[in-house]
Amino acid sequence: LFAGPVDFLKGVVAMSGMPPADRMEVCFAGRSNVGKSSLINALTGRKTLARASNTPGRTQEINFFTLGEERYLVDLPGYGYAEAPVAIVAKWQALLKQYLSGRATLRRAFVLIDTRHGVKAVDEEIMKLLNRSAVTFQVVMTKADKVNAATREANIAQVQAALVKHPAAYPEIIITSSEKGEGVETLRAIIAGLV
Ligand code: GDP
Repeated sequence: LFAGPVDFLKGVVAMSGMPPADRMEVCFAGRSNVGKSSLINALTGRKTLARASNTPGRTQEINFFTLGEERYLVDLPGYGYAEAPVAIVAKWQALLKQYLSGRATLRRAFVLIDTRHGVKAVDEEIMKLLNRSAVTFQVVMTKADKVNAATREANIAQVQAALVKHPAAYPEIIITSSEKGEGVETLRAIIAGLV
């Protein structure tokens, strides 16, 4: 589906470190522990490609992966650590803003939302920032295997209601489980279909 190598390229801490904007890219954003690494690994079929960045205060890098020759997948640092030092949060937000507003080849952001929890305040903040940056974003709900049907439907409805406020939101929500493989092919096809 992605012609060419799928590999880690580099982690960057400043715009100056970014690879040349020579191909389209998609980025993945989400709260810490939302299941972002697991989803990237499921999507690429590489069990250990993305690592969970679960240490509060550790260097916040934007990680670039190649999805074949024609696309980058960009893994944004997980947000929402209660204990993250203020200075680290500020630095990361500044880089995030620069990235979202300054990366011409960014085609779509995928905002990961835990199916158990729905949209939280920090997710709202990211969505607002994406809107302001005029980056089209699409919600991917994660860990769908962890909830019953009633919770699933209720939280899908909660996300849909939250998206109405955001013109940059793509209306279709993707429901996934990295554990069971649900939705992974759908997400892969969506990314492969972006040119
Ligand atoms: P990240 O911090 O967003 O990168 O999250 P991880 O991918 O490291 O996942 C956080 C935790 O949730 C880990 O213990 C994963 O095994 C678990 N997890 C991730 N995705 C799923 C899923 O689809 N289903 C279930 N049941 N657990 C998951």
